[in-house]
Amino acid sequence: MNDPSHRLIRHRSLLSALVFALVLGLASGPPAAGAAAKTKIAKEKQLVLDWLGKPETVEKFGKISDAIWASAELGLQEFESSKLLADTLEAAGFTVERGLAGMPTCFVASYGSGKPVIGLLGEFDALPMLSQKGRVPKKDPVVEGAPGHGCGHNAMCTAAAAAAIAVKEAMVAHGIKGTIKVFGSPAEEIVASRPYMIRAGLFEGVDAVIDNHSSSGFGTGYGVGGNALFSTIFTFKGKTAHSAGAPWVGRSALDAVEIMDVATNFLREHLPISQRMHYVILEGGEAPNVVPDKASVWYYVRSTDEGLEDMYKRVVDCAKAGALAAGVELASMRVVSAIHQQHANKAAAELIQKNIELVGMPAWDDEEQGFAKALQKELGVEQKGMPKEVDKLEAPTGMFVGGGSSDVGDVTLITPTATITFPGAAPGAIGHHWSNVACFYGSTAWKGLNAGAKAIAASAIDLLTKPGELAKLRKEFEEYSKVHPYKPFLPADAQPPNDLNKELMDKYRAALGKALAGK
Ligand SMILES: [Zn+2]
Repeated sequence: MNDPSHRLIRHRSLLSALVFALVLGLASGPPAAGAAAKTKIAKEKQLVLDWLGKPETVEKFGKISDAIWASAELGLQEFESSKLLADTLEAAGFTVERGLAGMPTCFVASYGSGKPVIGLLGEFDALPMLSQKGRVPKKDPVVEGAPGHGCGHNAMCTAAAAAAIAVKEAMVAHGIKGTIKVFGSPAEEIVASRPYMIRAGLFEGVDAVIDNHSSSGFGTGYGVGGNALFSTIFTFKGKTAHSAGAPWVGRSALDAVEIMDVATNFLREHLPISQRMHYVILEGGEAPNVVPDKASVWYYVRSTDEGLEDMYKRVVDCAKAGALAAGVELASMRVVSAIHQQHANKAAAELIQKNIELVGMPAWDDEEQGFAKALQKELGVEQKGMPKEVDKLEAPTGMFVGGGSSDVGDVTLITPTATITFPGAAPGAIGHHWSNVACFYGSTAWKGLNAGAKAIAASAIDLLTKPGELAKLRKEFEEYSKVHPYKPFLPADAQPPNDLNKELMDKYRAALGKALAGK
């Protein structure tokens, strides 16, 4: 996800005095007996909150999060991260299927049997170029140029795994019927796993899904958010020649890429402001004195669900124009992934919100406040430290301004889904930037993911034990589906891009390992 703030349409504001009082009462750990009595927490829910609140649980999953942060594996190269999470779930009694939907790092971990089936989503991939030392409030890479966890995904499948194991403990202790599943979802940063996982049938029979994303705040939201997206690599083929000796013999594939990019940059002027596109040139030749016979450019084309296909067609026209002008062939248009906007379920968000308010914002200590303020000073933003209150659930404004994308979007169209954003980052830290990498290692990430896991587990318990609550989600979803049936943007012949990040990860894996060993 490009920026958690774009992930859901939601807003922050003060809580009511009543809720605030409750949050203060709970802020320093698991619900106290007094608070439990006040809010009448069901025994199943109390069990998951107590289990997750144990210091050894906080430490166990904190260390898993830190290990995934340190290996900083790019999408579909998350071999160590995926294995650590899958092994942890397997050791806790889950049945784990690995290497699913054509992706070696995709897994599904299940516990229990029969209905209802509640799914938890979890991501674990890093971003290129963002290497940064943890909890150091100025730019200071672990390995210059290496990947880093600039979106906090190291804490996310970790939170889902912790929540699922807590739910399993409650299922065993209280004889709860149904199934809890963790969907280990690779490569969210290239929005590349969920459409393939859906196509492989992994979500069949799932009654509701709770997604999560790291953030600085603690909240949820509903309605339509983020952008739909086509991720496509355009490859051009021309003819080599001596660039000075006989350039008229050559046909430059790089010319086609450049003309395509000029054309799309003119196209930008005539698109609604919410539509966005950006590109990187993957191949553009090897040396100036050889006319490049091969060049490729990777585009993200983003719009609303309604506007995406038309916008994509116009970008494809720009590619064709580039090929025509340069006299080369547009050899391939490889769709890496194609995804929908997120359509989060209101009933799910309302249920989740109650549990977020029950759990409350973690209490941050002086060191954590000091780090946050030092980072905020470095970034030139208000030095307000870590947040004190959870977010309030607010209705979507109806103002669509575009922004990032997540392949969770497709999941929201096949089963009722909402996302919990949990804290950990200092407010003002920037997504896909070294400052976010610095935040998601160590204590604030440990506490944030633990609070997130509590809200996820408590919400899953509600859905497993209160048929009336699940029915509300399902009814809303079924009515919505009549108007917005799921029709994947992903072409039927698209294949998971298992190769895309391999070379880059191979380049940095050993150096990151060495840096870690030397610590
Ligand atoms: Zn993200």
